[in-house]
Amino acid sequence: MAASGEPGRQWQEEVAAAVVVVGSCMTDLVSLTSRLPKTGETIHGHKFFIGFGGKGANQCVQAARLGAKTSIVCKVGKDSFGNDYIENLKQNDISTEFTCQTKDAATGTASIIVNKEVKTLFNPAPATADLDPRFYSLSDVFCCNESEAEILTGLTVRSPADAGKVAQVLVERGCQVVIITLGAEGCVMLSQSDPVPKYIPTEKVKAVDTTGAGDSFVGALAFYLAYYPNLSLEEMLKRSNFIAAVSVQAAGTQSSYPYKKDLPLDLF
Ligand code: ADP
Repeated sequence: MAASGEPGRQWQEEVAAAVVVVGSCMTDLVSLTSRLPKTGETIHGHKFFIGFGGKGANQCVQAARLGAKTSIVCKVGKDSFGNDYIENLKQNDISTEFTCQTKDAATGTASIIVNKEVKTLFNPAPATADLDPRFYSLSDVFCCNESEAEILTGLTVRSPADAGKVAQVLVERGCQVVIITLGAEGCVMLSQSDPVPKYIPTEKVKAVDTTGAGDSFVGALAFYLAYYPNLSLEEMLKRSNFIAAVSVQAAGTQSSYPYKKDLPLDLF
C-alpha cells in the first residue's frame, strides 16, 4: 500500500492492480442434456450456450466484481474466442495489459455437459386463462388435464387428436414438454424436440372413484423424473398411467394411492 504524501508511490497505487492472477482463460461450450452420453453415443441436447470460464479468469472476475483492482496474466488465441474473451475481461474492469494473443494456438475451450435431470414439473391447477406466461418457459414438463388445457387455450379437448393440437399451442408458448391427461383415455405428450404428439393409452379398469387421479399421475411422474431420469418420457407416462389407474379403483383420494410394495416390480 502506498503511504500518502509520497507522490511517486501515489502514482503507482493508481495504476497497479491489487490482485494479479496468473491463470487460464477458457471459453466454455456448455450443452444441457437430460443425461450424459455413453462413450461414442450421440444424444439430443436441450440448450447450448457459450460462456467465459477458466479457473484463473473466474477468480479474477469474482475479485473484480467485489471491487478489487485486477489484472490477469494469460494468453488466448488470435481468434474470435480470444477477441471475445479480451472484451469480456475489459467489461469486467480487468486490466488486459498482460493478456497476450497468439497465432500459434487456439483459445482454450472447455466442453461442458450439464446433466440437467431435476426438472421443473408444473401442474397449472386450478387453471386460469391469464396464467403468467413465464410459467410456460420455466416449465420443463407442463402437465394438465383436459379441462385445464381448455381454460388455458380456449380450445376444446374431446379426443387425443384435440389434445395433440392443444399441446402444440402450449409448446409454442415455451414449454419443453406438454402432457395432457385424458382420464380413462390415458394421456398425450408433445415435446419441442419431437413435433408429433404421442398418445399413451392406459389400462381399461373398473373405476370406482376418480377423485385425485390427476394428482396420483403427477406424483408418479415426479417420482420417475427424479429417480429414473434415464427412462424415456413415454415409458414414464405409461407407468404413471398405470399407477393412476390403480388409484381410480378404490374410493377416496390419498386413501386410494398405491404403495410401492403393492405395485408390479417392473414399474421400478
Ligand atoms: P384429473 O384427476 O386431474 O381430472 P384425469 O382425469 O385426466 O385428471 O386423470 C389423470 C390420469 O389418471 C389419467 O391420465 C389416467 O392415467 C388416470 N385415469 C383417470 N381416470 C381413469 C380411468 N377411468 N381409468 C383408468 N385410468 C384413469
